[in-house]
Amino acid sequence: MSTNGVSIPAERAGPAREIAAVLAPGRRVALTTHVNADGDGVGSEVALWRLLTARGVHAAIANPTPVPPRFEFLIPDGADRSAHAGREIAAADVVVVLDISDGSRLGDLATGLRKSRGPTVCIDHHVSQGSLPAGPRLVAPEASATAELIFDLATSLGWALGTEVARALYVGILTDTGAFRFANTTPRVLRVASALLEEGVEPESIYEEVYASAPEGRVRLTAEVLQTLVVEPDAGLAWVTVPPDALARYGATADDLDGIVEFPRSIAGVRLALLFRQLANGRIKVSYRSLGSVDAAELAHEFGGGGHRKAAGASVDGSLAEVQRVVLEAARRYLRAPL
Ligand code: AMP
Ligand code: MN
Ligand code: MN
Repeated sequence: MSTNGVSIPAERAGPAREIAAVLAPGRRVALTTHVNADGDGVGSEVALWRLLTARGVHAAIANPTPVPPRFEFLIPDGADRSAHAGREIAAADVVVVLDISDGSRLGDLATGLRKSRGPTVCIDHHVSQGSLPAGPRLVAPEASATAELIFDLATSLGWALGTEVARALYVGILTDTGAFRFANTTPRVLRVASALLEEGVEPESIYEEVYASAPEGRVRLTAEVLQTLVVEPDAGLAWVTVPPDALARYGATADDLDGIVEFPRSIAGVRLALLFRQLANGRIKVSYRSLGSVDAAELAHEFGGGGHRKAAGASVDGSLAEVQRVVLEAARRYLRAPL
């Protein structure tokens, strides 16, 4: 099957049909994604919400944490029911989990999801064991973004996109590829992005919303976090640390930290960059970004996390100082080992 020069592989078209079969008109469907939703999670949910609503499905977005202000421009009126997410999951005939393949990053919703009565659909591009309840799965680690898979789902089913769905999918692809810079910027995803522009997406208007509408606090927070930079040139290691009270002082959210870890990664000779921050639950979140052959997911995995080769994360128990000590020691050991 081919649309706009993008062919849909059979291993995606098959699961797409199985997913469409459970998302029948009249059904009540809850859409959810990981804590601290990113552009791919929100973009995929909004696109699917619009596609389903147009088909007479009662869809609701039900996330464990609020949608970051940066992505609110995408949300249709009344679509985001995250304030009552637990209730939406309990009432749903089908739950669709996007941009995550296991329950561990669903925060407070993980328990409710295990008790849900219908199938759990999963659409994702992570490598994971997949601990979600049973249901049809469209999981492709080689996809650049979950939004690319929503494009495939709609295209293989012959569902028209329209400008608003295309805008939401474009945000997912734009943010997960680091604005078309990271290793997951494939020829195929550029063809998908091209198809989205054909649907009427205006890249400059999306750029303004996503990257040029920052509250002043985000820039001041960035400046403060960058002051903490430590570089170990011999190891090719660099890291920054978010002071524990900094988000509150700037009225900022976790989303405002997105992209800061790119600064230590941008230093010549650095192969692994880390960002440390304390979560509200007291655990320490470590963001890993790598270059070249360094496998960030392998490093994050040692601490119970995961992700992709070049971008991964873990939430680790312990004090900030203690977690930094063990995570940095593991990183130095990895970087010292012969390739
Ligand atoms: P982040 O550093 O939060 O931007 O996350 C980068 C990537 O790491 C994400 O795309 C996730 O796949 C993965 N990731 C982040 N945090 C965790 C976690 N606590 N457990 C497993 N994977 C994570
Ligand atoms: Mn994500
Ligand atoms: Mn993603």
